[in-house]
Amino acid sequence: MRIGVMGGSFDPIHYGHLVAASEAAHRFDLARVIFCPTGQAWHKSTDRRAPAEVRYLMTVVATAADPRFDVSRVDIDRPGPTYTVDTLRDLRDERADAGLPAAEWFFITGADALAEILGWRDPEKVVEAAQLVGVTRPGHVLADPGLPQARVSLLEVPALAISSTDVRRRVAEGAPISYLVPDGVAHLIAKHGLYRT
Ligand code: ATP
Ligand code: MG
Repeated sequence: MRIGVMGGSFDPIHYGHLVAASEAAHRFDLARVIFCPTGQAWHKSTDRRAPAEVRYLMTVVATAADPRFDVSRVDIDRPGPTYTVDTLRDLRDERADAGLPAAEWFFITGADALAEILGWRDPEKVVEAAQLVGVTRPGHVLADPGLPQARVSLLEVPALAISSTDVRRRVAEGAPISYLVPDGVAHLIAKHGLYRT
């Protein structure tokens, strides 16, 4: 069984994430893609962020209708900053504990993050644990991160202009976010008063 893993803060999850996961599932014949929202300790900046439980809820709502998609709490429930090496180990251990056969793992990430992977914690273990799928804009050429080519694939996706940063800014400015995020996510943003200044 081939399984994709998509880590991210998902603050909020948007159609760029969903299209990337869907394309990766199609291209690499993945039976499932597991979305793993990062733990709360991981702050990229100081602006307003949603609590982990609300990011988890938004991710569940956004993925609920797709039978290929699943959401895992491994990163949310593990204290401290999220490292991909831990995510992959915990997911693998969960399968083993459940008595399921070993899977072939694919870690899906933006090509920009892929270029920085050698700076991640235990990059050689990450590459050992999963094939890396870097999603790129059409025409993007990846700066060689010095990774084994056999373990890295690039995948062009059509919705790369969407970002969570832009969605948060839109909410703060009262601009529309419809068609950038699923309706259920927009409802949760409104209900919890997220991203307002
Ligand atoms: P932020 O703007 O806060 O950085 P983001 O939109 O980049 O958020 P993340 O949660 O940081 O979202 O991203 C999770 C993963 O999804 C990362 O690997 C990221 O590169 C990838 N990703 C983000 N936006 C897109 C998109 N529009 N298309 C494809 N992949 C994306
Ligand atoms: Mg990002």
